[in-house]
Formats: sequence, structure tokens, C-alpha cells
Amino acid sequence: LIAIAVLSAIGLPDHLWGNKGEPVSLSLFPDQANTAMQSHAIGVFLAAKLDREEELVRRAYKPADTANHKNVVLIVVDALRADHLSLFGYSRRTSPYLEALASAKAVRLATSAAAVCNESSCGLRAIASSRYLDKQATRPITVQEALKLHGYSVHLMFSGDHTNFYGLSDIYGEVDSYFDGASQKERYLNDDRLVTDRLSGMGSWDGKPTVFQFHLMSSHALGARFEDTPPFGPGANYTALRWGTKDLEAPAHATNYYDRGILQADRVIANILDILKQKGYLKEALVVVTGDHGESLGERGLYSHTHSVWEESLRVPFVMLQFGGVLKNQMHAGPVVSQVDIAPTLLHELHLPIPSSWEGIALQRPMVGRVVYFQQAQFIGLVDERNIGRLYKHWLDLRTGDEFTFDLNVDPHERNNLSAQIPQPLKREWQQLLANRSAALAPEVAARLGAPAVP
Ligand SMILES: [Zn+2]
Repeated sequence: LIAIAVLSAIGLPDHLWGNKGEPVSLSLFPDQANTAMQSHAIGVFLAAKLDREEELVRRAYKPADTANHKNVVLIVVDALRADHLSLFGYSRRTSPYLEALASAKAVRLATSAAAVCNESSCGLRAIASSRYLDKQATRPITVQEALKLHGYSVHLMFSGDHTNFYGLSDIYGEVDSYFDGASQKERYLNDDRLVTDRLSGMGSWDGKPTVFQFHLMSSHALGARFEDTPPFGPGANYTALRWGTKDLEAPAHATNYYDRGILQADRVIANILDILKQKGYLKEALVVVTGDHGESLGERGLYSHTHSVWEESLRVPFVMLQFGGVLKNQMHAGPVVSQVDIAPTLLHELHLPIPSSWEGIALQRPMVGRVVYFQQAQFIGLVDERNIGRLYKHWLDLRTGDEFTFDLNVDPHERNNLSAQIPQPLKREWQQLLANRSAALAPEVAARLGAPAVP
């Protein structure tokens, strides 16, 4: 219902896309927020339809007997930007451990991916279920569920409180153990040492294929910083600066604070893998390191996340490492990679079938002419590689009707808005594509944006 309403609105002639952004904003409200996802929500009718469809896919999914049963370690680092990792050429040495693994030729893939949104809830859901924001079932088929069907034990160890956060702890399906910041009282709930404490208490590997997912808060502004993590310069927590500040030093202080958090995350990753190695889990294993979304550090006056779709807000790393066995070769991904590609790429690497409802692709089988999607609140957009020589990123502000278009090939920092130069047929096609991809807003976000109430 929501998709249809937005489709008819986006299909309007261009002159009706006025400053008020009506009537599109009218369609942003769900009838009833059935699946709440932080700034977004899936309405009750659409959620029921998605769940019915997902149940059919679930019944049709047959485990493969050709499966390669390597252990799997998925590490999601909160608010981790690809461009602040020295592994990707950042000038500060923020990821010495990941670099050492690259030197040791353990890297199967090192690329960046566009997150589906700029906050944790949809980012984590997209990683687990390979679905964009608007297609999130209440109970999606997750990579954890697919592995479980192939005989894996599933262990989730999350820094942060995922239990009381939009039902996030319930989306993964049946698991063998679950632990997050709310499961314990010894440490501050955003202290990553609670993850390594928990892991240290686990027994050695019993030979059964095992998947771990870890969530780290070291690089999040609310994550505990450890005394022994060296600073890159005077830093300051920027959580309160979300919408900007007049302090001219704030961007530098925020960046110092953030980079120190990344270095700490790199150290926690080293600790985790060291513990897993000692316990025998890395004899043959795939390890993925990624982020749930990006982070603003004063670019365009913004700080933190949940409010933007600029590159710094969406661009996360997707690093896949192989432990044990012979590394085939390093994979090279195409120019357009989305967060929804992580789960299918992982399953493909293990020779496991990919659920038919998943929206991402296995990057081992590159696809030309791809379009991937993103949305954060009223900003909805896509990255389109179908135009030769161009890598267009395009988005709309559904509230104001403003359009943004950048060619990431020549303008990776999004400084030159090309919207006025884009031919109308292409723009119209983008609008049609986006019309099918919009999620509704959570009521409090709609209220903040000053959108009108639903009758
Ligand atoms: Zn997050």
C-alpha cells in the first residue's frame, strides 16, 4: 500500500515536485507501525505480506550437501567508515592489525559497500537478511538461519543493547547462544571488553561448524574508550553535536575521537581472532569485517548518524578474510557493492544456496549494469552504474523535493550536484525505481520533519 501511494506521487510531472514535497510526504506514514526500525517502520499490511512471502521462501529453501563447512566469524563494527581505515589508504594508522592480515595474504576481498541506511537497525537487518530497508520482513530469512540449516552452531555476542532495540535480537532465528550488553552487569553496556570476556569463557572448538557474530561499539561515539588506546590528538565526544556547532575545532576533535575508536576496534578484532585461534575455531574459517552504517564527523556541519545519506554516512568496509586452507585469489568487486551483498557473498563462498528472496548478489559472480538502493528518513536514493563511464549516485529529499546527483567516479566527495544536467528520461527512470523502494517513517521522525498527520 505504501509503495503504491509513493509510486503515484513520484510519477507526477516534474513541475509538481514543489518545495513542500507534497503529496509524497503524506504516504510516508505506515497505518500502524508493525515493524519498527528506528527512524523507519513497515506498515502492518506490508509487513504481513512480506512475512507470508518469506515463509514460502523458507519452506522452499533446501540445504545443500555440497556445503563447505568452514567456520564463519562476522564482525560488525558500529559506525565504521571505510575511508577511515588505513587498510584502505587512510593517512592515519587506524587498522594495523587488518593491514598485517593483508600482508600475510589472508584477504580474500577488501572493498567498500553502500549501507542501506544511516543507522543500526536497518543496517544490521540488511547484513543479516540481504534485504533493503523497505523489504524487511518481521522474521526475515537470515544468513544465521541458512547456516543453522546446514548444521552450524550460532553464537551471537554483541556489545550494546540489542535486546531492547527495535526487536533486533529476535531477527536472527534460532541461535545456540545470545549475549549482549543488556545480558550482563559487570561492564558498561557499550564496552567491547564484554564481548572478549564472554568469548574467553567459551570452550574449545568441538569440531561442529560454528558461526559467530560480534558487534563492536569501539568506533561508536557512545562506545567505551579504553585507557590504553593511544589518541591521535585532542579528541572530544561529538554525540551532542548531531545537527552542528559553531566550534571551528569540532571537526578535528570529532575526527581524533573517532579515529581512536577505530584503532581500538582494530585491537578488539585482533583480540577476538586471537582467542578464537587459541580455541581452535580458525583452523578453517571465513572472517568478515564490516560496518552497520557510516558516520558524519563535521562534513556539511553534521555529526554522528541517523540523518544523512552522503558518502561518509553510508560507505562501510566489506572485508573478507580466510584462515586456513589455500587462498584461491583475491576477489575484486565491481564498482557498485551494497551491504545486502554481504550475506549472499558469504554463502556463495561456502557453496551454500542463496535464499530466493535475498536482494543482494554474490560478488564472486559480478553483475554488470547494477543499481543499488539506500534510504535514511526522507532521503531516498540509488547508485547506478549503467551509464558508461559514470557512477551516478542520486537521491531525493521527499520533504523538500530537492534532488542530488553526483558522479562518484570523478566526484567521490559529492561536491558537484549534477541534477540539472541529467536527461529527463534517466531522471524519470530513477524516480520510478525509487517509487518501489521507499519505507515509511516512524511517527516521531515524521513529526520532527513537520510532515502532516494522516487522516
Ligand atoms: Zn550503528
